[in-house]
Amino acid sequence: MRQFLLLAFLPLAAFSQPNGWNDPFPPHKVMDNVYFVGTKELASFLIVTPAGNILMNSNYETSVPLIRASVEKLGFKFSDIKILIAGHAHPDHVEGDALVKELTGAQVVVGRVDAPATRAFRPGGKEHPIDRLVDDGDTVTLGGTTLTAHLMPGHTKGCIAWTTDLKEEGKTYHAFIECSLNIQAMKFVGNTDYPQIVDDFRATYKKARTFPVEVFLSSHASFYGLQAKYEKLQKRGPGDPNPFVDPEGYKAHVDQFEKNFEAALARQLAQGEGKDK
Ligand SMILES: [Zn+2]
Repeated sequence: MRQFLLLAFLPLAAFSQPNGWNDPFPPHKVMDNVYFVGTKELASFLIVTPAGNILMNSNYETSVPLIRASVEKLGFKFSDIKILIAGHAHPDHVEGDALVKELTGAQVVVGRVDAPATRAFRPGGKEHPIDRLVDDGDTVTLGGTTLTAHLMPGHTKGCIAWTTDLKEEGKTYHAFIECSLNIQAMKFVGNTDYPQIVDDFRATYKKARTFPVEVFLSSHASFYGLQAKYEKLQKRGPGDPNPFVDPEGYKAHVDQFEKNFEAALARQLAQGEGKDK
């Protein structure tokens, strides 16, 4: 809870690598062909197919060697990554795109609305690679796995969540890889850069409740309670449920983040903020 509060009110300026976010975390199988290869707080997922692999989220450029080590620790080749799905247009999810592209030659898939903001992240002056733009409802398919894009704006103008179906022990589960519902220190009143931010957030919380989420994943490990779920995974015996199947946790998470948003909005309206950024 303490960590959650910290994240919720973290100013944007603090995005230059908050303490511990980029520490290593044990790579592990989530379910079926989906593996966690991210860092302690920044989630990256490897989706393994017979035609090569998909990586979702490169994170910071300094995260890339850690992601690579995690991929190799699981027994996969980093060079088998054929598609990189860029996270939303914040540096902790996309700064490493150019380095991943350099190391793998992967096709870089970016949400169309977030593309201009994504392009602005150029570590070391490197051009940000963008090979394919996707819109709401578009799919990314490789080796029999299909991921579907869902535009959920607010956290960024073009935040995209992804869904796919996963199988375990003869059952099919709806998996949801959330973008972010987090408000950070965003300006809701008089935001001239993003005038529709309040409407977008409200529509996104509403949309968030329309997905039949069973396997709940997100761009930040703390958003889906990775630490506790990983501990359960370590102790999981035959017949025990997969800890990442958490439809109730997902609903509670949406409720909590919506509450944070409405409270912050009410505070800002009461303070009459809204002249400048
Ligand atoms: Zn973000």
